[in-house]
Amino acid sequence: MSKLRVLVGVKRTLDYMLKPRINPAKTGVDLTGQKMSINPFCDIAVEEAIRIKEAHKDRVEDTLVVTAGPSASEQILRQSLAKGIQRASLIDVGDKELEPLSVAKLLKATVEKEKSNLVILGKQAIDDDAHQTGGMLAAMLGWPQFTSASKVAFEGENVIVTREIDGGAETLSSPLPAVITTDLRLNVPRFANLAKVMKARKAPLGKSTPEELGVAIKNRLQTLSVEEPVSKRQNIMVKNVDEFVKTLKELKAL
Ligand code: AMP
Repeated sequence: MSKLRVLVGVKRTLDYMLKPRINPAKTGVDLTGQKMSINPFCDIAVEEAIRIKEAHKDRVEDTLVVTAGPSASEQILRQSLAKGIQRASLIDVGDKELEPLSVAKLLKATVEKEKSNLVILGKQAIDDDAHQTGGMLAAMLGWPQFTSASKVAFEGENVIVTREIDGGAETLSSPLPAVITTDLRLNVPRFANLAKVMKARKAPLGKSTPEELGVAIKNRLQTLSVEEPVSKRQNIMVKNVDEFVKTLKELKAL
């Protein structure tokens, strides 16, 4: 049976517990001073890679977590190492904005360099909700892609993936290599214990740049505006209880 070399792509995003605030220029979310964390779907991808490693000890040759971003993204790589991923690599793009096509090109170059044969990504990053990187990467590699996986298993040379579809489940199979994107119900990510977090702080990280990977970062989209959702709630001020009751009757709420 061929060995598994698993690559997990992770993105640093605004922590999912925080309410995004739009910046004054209305060109995006204001990240100043905000808590940044691993994108939740990426955390699920990390967990799945670790579970595959634990369940198939003899078969898994390597688990590698990769992010393209600023140097501050090291934090999510170290967190993944603390949980059980074997190696981590930062593609340092400085403060450049990345569109999914650029990310897919950077990941493709890394997959080829690392000889990975299984890529696990989140189905979407919760900041831009693009849902594009997995599809683009699979297309550029010419590999099959399983989207929104809720279960992953192996049978000989094949990977078997179950996906939730409207009112049921679909199970698909393909030989490796393949790209899988994760859905929320695939697993519940573990917490790393403190000793492992401390150890991961000093762990060596692989580093590369887009230039070293032979990828030119070119953005094609320009954000024209970002708006808050329109509130559907209408507030009405009333002066007294009588007016309150009258208003409720007018609104047919009484
Ligand atoms: P998206 O297509 O932007 O919604 O992102 C889908 C998935 O692609 C994410 O969950 C990650 O697994 C991966 N991804 C997106 N951006 C990056 C990045 N900058 N570095 C590494 N992986 C990424």
